[in-house]
Amino acid sequence: MTARILDGAELARRCNDALAVRVSALAVPPSLAVVLVGADPASQIYVRNKARVAEKLGFRHQQITLPADTGELELIAAVDALNADRSVDAILVQLPLPRHLDANRVIDRIDPAKDADGCTPASVGLLHLGRPDLVACTPAGCLRLLEDAGVPLTGRDAVVVGRSNIVGRPVARLLELANCSVDHCHSRTRDLAGHVRRAEIVIAAVGVPELIRGDWLADGAVVIDVGINRGLDGKLKGDVAFAEAVPRVSMITPVPGGVGPMTIAMLMENTFRAASRRR
Ligand code: NDP
Repeated sequence: MTARILDGAELARRCNDALAVRVSALAVPPSLAVVLVGADPASQIYVRNKARVAEKLGFRHQQITLPADTGELELIAAVDALNADRSVDAILVQLPLPRHLDANRVIDRIDPAKDADGCTPASVGLLHLGRPDLVACTPAGCLRLLEDAGVPLTGRDAVVVGRSNIVGRPVARLLELANCSVDHCHSRTRDLAGHVRRAEIVIAAVGVPELIRGDWLADGAVVIDVGINRGLDGKLKGDVAFAEAVPRVSMITPVPGGVGPMTIAMLMENTFRAASRRR
C-alpha cells in the first residue's frame, strides 16, 4: 500500500477561496488583531503567515508587537483595549508567551465573542458541552482534513497522542463528537506503540520528532501529524516517521504542508464567524 498524501496547503487554498467569496459580500471586511510578545523566530513566522493570508482575503489586520520583557498587566491592558475596540472582530494572542507571563491569565481576558483561537474558558466549555462554537484552529483543521478526505468517523477507533489544551484535548473531543471511540495518550501512557497499533485514525500532537514509528501503525490507518519539529539537519519533521509510515497507512499528512496551512485557514473562518455575528 502507498498512502494518499493529504495536501493541507491545497485544501487550505480551497477553504480560503470559498471564504473570500463570502467576505466580498460583507459591507465591512472582518478584522483580526494578532498580539505577539517577544521575538521568538517560529512565532514571528507563524504571525507573518497569518497576516499574509488575512490580507489576501481582504481582512483588516493589525499586529501588536510587544517587547519580550512586557509585564502581565501591560499585556492584559493591550488585550482589554482590543476587547473594547469596536472595529476589532477577533483577537489572537500568539503562544507561547515568554516564561514570566501566565498564558492562562492572558487568555482568560480575551472577550469570548472575539476568541479567534477558541481557547478561552467559555469556548472550551462549549466544546466540552458538545456545543462547539469558535473551536481551536489546529484541531478544527485536523477534522476538516479528515472530512475532506472522506474518512468515515462514526464508530472508528482513534488514538490522540498529546493532551495539550490547544491541540490534544480539543481534537480528542471533536473526534468523540464525530462518534469516534477515542483513546487518549500522553507522556505517562504505558506501551504507546500498542495503543497506536490498535487505532484506525491516529492524531499525533506531541512535539517529539518521529516519535511514532512506521511499524507502530496499523495497515491502512489514517494519520494526521500535527507535530512541527526542527530536526538537527535544520529540516522540519513531524511526530510520525513519515517515510516509514507511507508504505503502511492509507492516508497521511506531510510536514510541512499538512495541518499547518489548515490552522491558518481555520483562523480565518473563525474570524469571519466572529465578525458575521457581531454585525
Ligand atoms: P505540548 O508540549 O503542549 O504538549 C505535548 C503533549 O505530548 C503533552 O500532552 C505530552 O504529555 C505529550 N508527550 C510528550 N512526550 C511524549 C511521549 N514521549 N509520549 C507520549 N506523549 C508525549 O505541545 P502542543 O500540543 O502545543 O504541540 C504539539 C506539536 O504540535 C508540536 O510539535 C507543535 O509545534 C505542533 N503544533 C503544530 C501546529 C500546527 O499548526 N500544525 C499548531 C500547534 C502545535 P504530558 O501531558 O503527559 O506532558
